[in-house]
Amino acid sequence: MTSFYEINGNKILLKQQLSYVAANSPFYKKHFQSNKINIAEIESYEDFKQIPITTKEDLQHFNKEFISVPGDEIIDYVTTSGTLGNPVSFALNDADLDRLAENERRSFEMLGVKKSSVVQITTTLDRRFMAGMAYFLGLRKLGAGIIRTGSGLPGLQWESIERFKPEFLVAVPSFLLKLIDFAIQNGIDYKNSSVKAAVCIGEPLRNPDFSLNSLGRRIKELWDIDLFSTYASTEMGTAFTECEFHEGNHSLLKLIFAEVLDENQEPVDKGEIGELVVTPLQTKTMPLIRFATGDMVKFYGKNCKCGRESLRISTPVGRKQQMIKLRGTTLYPQQIINLLTAFQSLKIFVIEARLNKTKTDEILVRIPEDFAEVNELQEHLQAGLKVKVVLKKASVEEIEKLKFPRESRKPKLFHDFR
Ligand SMILES: [Zn+2]
Repeated sequence: MTSFYEINGNKILLKQQLSYVAANSPFYKKHFQSNKINIAEIESYEDFKQIPITTKEDLQHFNKEFISVPGDEIIDYVTTSGTLGNPVSFALNDADLDRLAENERRSFEMLGVKKSSVVQITTTLDRRFMAGMAYFLGLRKLGAGIIRTGSGLPGLQWESIERFKPEFLVAVPSFLLKLIDFAIQNGIDYKNSSVKAAVCIGEPLRNPDFSLNSLGRRIKELWDIDLFSTYASTEMGTAFTECEFHEGNHSLLKLIFAEVLDENQEPVDKGEIGELVVTPLQTKTMPLIRFATGDMVKFYGKNCKCGRESLRISTPVGRKQQMIKLRGTTLYPQQIINLLTAFQSLKIFVIEARLNKTKTDEILVRIPEDFAEVNELQEHLQAGLKVKVVLKKASVEEIEKLKFPRESRKPKLFHDFR
């Protein structure tokens, strides 16, 4: 199984990255020293995986020690969500911004965006957010036409689609549903618009067997456009993107070295779920080596129908610490979210995880007081999850308050009180 991680294609860059951090990163100087890692001896994946992983907590606690360039080189400051509540700082210099642009150029190219394409970015471009800016930089490098509508404002989105005729939207999938809603209410002939495809971020679209999940199906039934998923994070600074075959998200060679590891930090087999651990290549300001993302993904290996040689993974099926053990069954919140979203008459919900008196996991789903199909929903959930979860009625205001916390960039459907 470790053959999937032959470091060949990336070996020179990986060794360069190790030398770079050993010389410039205060955190990794200490990390290598205290763990007796001699980077000159790293020649194979077996050697490489002797380096202990770096965690989100490391990044949070020792944030400034990751900075590997002089302060006046930093150009862009962003934040990423931390595991301990506070946002974590992240920074990029000129070389990192060029790298980010190249990463998104290749990602857009993979899913069919060309120089002649026009792309409308309907996600946040500011608010200390890396993604929106990365899309702009990548599209600029590709030479495509760009419309920066930013997030929200369905009216402006449709007006821009009519005015500039984009073929691609960059969007959060649930926002596509809002756009469809708005079009229906305002008599916009959305089915015959210029839009042919959406590049989706933030929410999964597919099940691990590549079929569209309930959210993906709901969009596709209403609006028959091509849906591409792409997955990235600030710390990775690299996107994993679907090609035209939609069978997993490709990693980008020369930009990232990715591993999918089990609980003992050994590589999982093809078809298994594990934690994504990344070593972004060619990053300068805050380079990370074997950074544990906390994202649980399914590992598909290589050999895609498109002929590309890179590893493929699913979009996250859940967060590592969100893993739920319910009477012997392992679940992730996203599975419950998918089933609840598929239940058309349920308009709003939130899921809560708690520990019960015997210190085992318990799941509670809050649904509106006036929701009538409780038994049907219970059966639907049990069929999909193979275990029973508790349904509890609450006022819509109460559920809305939980779903849209003030500081959050996106709706929070899962609350972990364990
Ligand atoms: Zn492919």
